[in-house]
Amino acid sequence: MITLKGISKSYAVVNAIADVDLSIPQGSIYGIIGRSGAGKSTLLRLMSLLESPDRGEIWYGDERVDTLRGRELLARRRRMGMIFQNFNLLGSRNVVGNIGYPLEIAGFRKKQIHERVDELLELVQITDKRKSRLRELSGGQKQRVAIARALAVNPEVLFCDEATSALDPQTTRSILSLIRELHEKLGFTVVLITHQMEVIRATCKEVAVLDGGRIVEQGPMDAVFSTPRTKAAQELVYA
Ligand code: ADP
Ligand code: MG
Repeated sequence: MITLKGISKSYAVVNAIADVDLSIPQGSIYGIIGRSGAGKSTLLRLMSLLESPDRGEIWYGDERVDTLRGRELLARRRRMGMIFQNFNLLGSRNVVGNIGYPLEIAGFRKKQIHERVDELLELVQITDKRKSRLRELSGGQKQRVAIARALAVNPEVLFCDEATSALDPQTTRSILSLIRELHEKLGFTVVLITHQMEVIRATCKEVAVLDGGRIVEQGPMDAVFSTPRTKAAQELVYA
């Protein structure tokens, strides 16, 4: 369970996140939706401990994590995976080199890395691309590499920031179904952040709507999307 208690974050004069309370159940696929500038990426950087909140607390289970520093912070961050709209892969490395990278950093031996990368290639179904350079891959294949890299160290939670926003509808569906399948098989929690309604609809049971840095609506996806109460949610649903 990831719990945010009264989290706020400002940049100069912008209140990017304002007094957010949120509980994300362990093992769920939780959607956070909002239009551009709503504060989604900021919220995700706070949850994944890439940035510290100005106020509030972040808990993973019964451990408070926003106060972690140094080695403890690194150890906690190793238990998270992240994927992004622009993939954030290393252009100088091929597919295998990208997927193995976090394992190298974590100090695994060559043989272990090799075996684990083979498993991961199979999990994301790109074994035939193992030697490919990134520029030879489609967007969907690149996101599969990014997913494999994110899962290399067996994270407890996978954070997805607009992970399908650069992909065409068909590729989006195939990446979402891969995420759902891996979630079922491996049991990690997924936090999925997007401005795309259809992504949440296809993937999440629970959703929160973010607007102007605040959570304006949250609950079961069906309920929020069938009877949106706030203007922000209505704009997303009826767009
Ligand atoms: P979203 O991901 O929903 O599009 P962001 O979290 O990126 O929204 O941004 C929320 C608000 O915070 C925006 O007004 C944005 O300009 C501002 N913001 C985000 N990151 C920074 C930063 N590093 N420095 C200054 N302003 C920022
Ligand atoms: Mg964003």
